[in-house]
Amino acid sequence: MVWDDCLRIIKKNVNPQSFKTWFEPIKPVQLEGDVLTIQVPNKFFFEWLEEHYVQLLKKSIRQELGERGRLVYHIPEQGVKEPAATSTSSRAVYSKPSADKDNAPVPGAFDADMIKNPFIIPGIKRIKVEPQLNPTYTFENFIEGDCNRLARNAGLAIAKKPGGTAFNPLVIFGDVGLGKTHLAQAIGNDVVSKFESKAVLYVSSEKFTNQIIQAIKNNSVNDFVNFYQMIDVLIIDDIQFLAGKQKTQEIFFHIFNQLHQNGKQIILTSDRPPKDLEGIEDRLISRFKWGLSADLQVPDLETRMAILDTKINEEGVEIPQDVLEFICYNIKNNIRELEGVMISLLAQSTLIRRDVDMELAKEVIRNFVTTINREITVEFIQQLVAEHFNVPVDKLHHETRKRNVVIARQLSMYLAKKMTNKSLKTIGENFGGRDHSTVIYSCKAVQDMMDTDMIFKDTVSELEKKIKMSLNE
Ligand code: ADP
Ligand code: MG
Repeated sequence: MVWDDCLRIIKKNVNPQSFKTWFEPIKPVQLEGDVLTIQVPNKFFFEWLEEHYVQLLKKSIRQELGERGRLVYHIPEQGVKEPAATSTSSRAVYSKPSADKDNAPVPGAFDADMIKNPFIIPGIKRIKVEPQLNPTYTFENFIEGDCNRLARNAGLAIAKKPGGTAFNPLVIFGDVGLGKTHLAQAIGNDVVSKFESKAVLYVSSEKFTNQIIQAIKNNSVNDFVNFYQMIDVLIIDDIQFLAGKQKTQEIFFHIFNQLHQNGKQIILTSDRPPKDLEGIEDRLISRFKWGLSADLQVPDLETRMAILDTKINEEGVEIPQDVLEFICYNIKNNIRELEGVMISLLAQSTLIRRDVDMELAKEVIRNFVTTINREITVEFIQQLVAEHFNVPVDKLHHETRKRNVVIARQLSMYLAKKMTNKSLKTIGENFGGRDHSTVIYSCKAVQDMMDTDMIFKDTVSELEKKIKMSLNE
């Protein structure tokens, strides 16, 4: 099959998540001469492919069909709503169609704070829903990086066309503090600003569950369900907390089906991928997979710096660049913690009227990271350098003439001399009992190499920075 062969080429060139999202849902329709027709789920899908993958598609088609090979997209008539599945999910089985339109939903007593105006305007039969969003979470201040590109872009696409993309539901998953709530709310805020008439609602899973408990108590489950069925964009945060809550899941299942069937947008967040959600019914999990599951990963150093920089600008304060770098270097796995350090740093500096500098940053950061060496040790330098040159640390102590071991050893000595206050004698002892003249010789050799080899010089400064930044002071 020509398309299968194309897919094989494509697969090698994109990451698995993108492949699953953008290429698996495509169906080959026909092949006529040099022209291959493929069916994509909708227009949005087609636009995305054209925008992001046109070169790759061209390349693979040419490879399979020759220079004159062409690709034609077929977009099925909209209207009959198919579950825009990216996975292999079978066709959706829907429960009964939505309630009669004249039967306007009645807000129940379950949660009055969601309803701005509890009166139903006759004829319009719409109520205004308070979205419960935090307006500070926007796309503008949600920094893009490799760690979140897919999720962020899917979010942007949804905000342009809620319910009208292949991403329904959108499941944003990832570890704590990586931006799930921010991103989910940014989508909500963007929809609110673009579409005045759309009812957007953000709710945490706990709140959702509590509302259900209340509704059951008050005998108003129908009102509850009706209320939720009016929502155009429903955001439920941290769905892992629905685990084990059978009744809640049952009601949610019903709401989900109704919304999805009516082309309403559903956005969910979770601390793990849908398939790993334990204690959640299979039929729900399979529905979560209909749309797109996009993960948020730990941001790289540059992205962390960009995020922190944005936050600092928002606060209207200034922090020296080296301090910024230092914080980002040490707080890696959690953006909330990154912000925590910054806030605490600013608070400290105000309280004790001290400038924000490296020293203060180190003090503050000590409260956030658990293991700290207070001193740069020769061992630590050896470890980092050995790691960099990919040689076992103990090789630095022995006699070897292997070039990269020799360089690693000499460089470790050089850095130990430069960065610790150990004597030449002590340093020598740390390298399998060499004497001080060997250390002097090594330092000289490294200096010479740095003078003649720019790349080596860069390596040295990079390692030096790494050692400095690693809080070993
Ligand atoms: P989660 O819900 O995944 O635990 P949050 O959405 O609460 O994480 O994010 C934690 C903090 O990190 C928030 O203050 C959020 O604004 C910030 N944050 C996360 N990702 C980004 C990003 N890409 N750009 C800017 N800020 C971010
Ligand atoms: Mg959250």
